[in-house]
Amino acid sequence: MELHNSGAEVYVPDGSPLDVALSRTTHLGVSAHQDDIEIMAYHGILECFGRTDKGFTGVTVTNGSGSPREGLYGRYTDEEMQVVRRQEQKKAAFIGEYSAHVFLDYSSSAVKDPTNTHGVEDLKRIIAASRPQVIYTHNLADKHDTHVATALRVISALRELPRDSRPQHLYGCEVWRDLDWLNDHDKVVFNVQAHENLAMSLVGVFDSQICGGKRYDLATMGRRRANATYFASHGVDESASLIFGIDLTPLIEDEQLNVGEYIDGFINRFAKEVSSRIAKLS
Ligand SMILES: [Zn+2]
Repeated sequence: MELHNSGAEVYVPDGSPLDVALSRTTHLGVSAHQDDIEIMAYHGILECFGRTDKGFTGVTVTNGSGSPREGLYGRYTDEEMQVVRRQEQKKAAFIGEYSAHVFLDYSSSAVKDPTNTHGVEDLKRIIAASRPQVIYTHNLADKHDTHVATALRVISALRELPRDSRPQHLYGCEVWRDLDWLNDHDKVVFNVQAHENLAMSLVGVFDSQICGGKRYDLATMGRRRANATYFASHGVDESASLIFGIDLTPLIEDEQLNVGEYIDGFINRFAKEVSSRIAKLS
């Protein structure tokens, strides 16, 4: 498979040929950075874990340069840091039994540049070769520019692909902003309580991101627990761990649907819910 960057790589944990690894993919996660997949797309990883009829493939769009570093990694150059981050992502892919993991190796600025079409072209090739049923990416209300840019490139790629190459579902999930604020009927709710040990391993291998004091591992597991407990105010918890998503599928079924207006709909429904409760109780 031709990818634009010379540093691009496809890692296949079980050593299968690339075409086999991609064609067995049923669930695909596309994230900006190393470690985002394990935070936002764990539902897909879990769906495919230990299964012979399903396969999860991850795609990391950026090269991981410019990431903060402290402690053991404080003296690492940008190049050394990119090597570390790729290695950590490979560890996660191995632990999670991914079918494949694709590193696209773009700078953040390249991803954020809407005139740079290379990333969209790479994504189209990967999706056409893997034909997933479900794709997970960042949610469009995330507060990290590179995350939102990645989600926009995924939508562009899918809109340019023939309809029979598009997945049945496209979900935007939680990293830099959770989705608890969505009205409940606007939430896609993923129950991810199975294999909690696996979940903890997957968010725990990214030592370079965690050791400086950013406990993404604890925060991610805590968010899932909080989502589960605070989801329903009546009755006991039905799950110990939930991830919330926004259904982005309408954006790839209707190319004319304006992306900003689509997300505004969720925000406006939330605003209306808040103001109508205050009006009711005042
Ligand atoms: Zn990220």
